[in-house]
Amino acid sequence: MIFEKILIPDLVVKTYRDVTPEMIKASGKRALLCDIDNTLATYDDPTPPEELCRWIKNMRENGVEIAFVSNNSWDRVRGFNEELGLVAYAKAGKPKTRFLQMAVNDLGIEKSEAVLLGDQLLTDCAAAKFFGIPAIIVPPIKDKTTPFFKFKRWLEKPYMRKYFKMKKENN
Ligand SMILES: [Mg+2]
Repeated sequence: MIFEKILIPDLVVKTYRDVTPEMIKASGKRALLCDIDNTLATYDDPTPPEELCRWIKNMRENGVEIAFVSNNSWDRVRGFNEELGLVAYAKAGKPKTRFLQMAVNDLGIEKSEAVLLGDQLLTDCAAAKFFGIPAIIVPPIKDKTTPFFKFKRWLEKPYMRKYFKMKKENN
């Protein structure tokens, strides 16, 4: 079914810290297009936490480039990226793929060398799938508790279940 094709992630890990340069490079990739909110930091972190800075530094020193592709505002993304100065796009409108392509262009890589990292299936995972790249999904660091967010999580549930079922079957 079409929804399964776009909403089942390629890999689910507990936290972004579980993503290593070795893991990315093992699949022939060399860039991570990252969602920010709830993937790398909470909505309450105006700037990147130190641990995240260390992770980014380690990724880049080991040959994996990082770019931010966020659906949040330019104010948010600019502030977050100020010290880091990475390739960054705000208001990306994921699952639209336009800004994934722009990030790939800015990094000077091929689409086939990129992987997406995010926390939401309906925006992040779907954008990756429409774009034709793998999606690594992490559980949201600190989810919003608004009814709309709860509704989105509820919609995601069957696809996460399906991912874990497939994973079990493949082991
Ligand atoms: Mg997010």
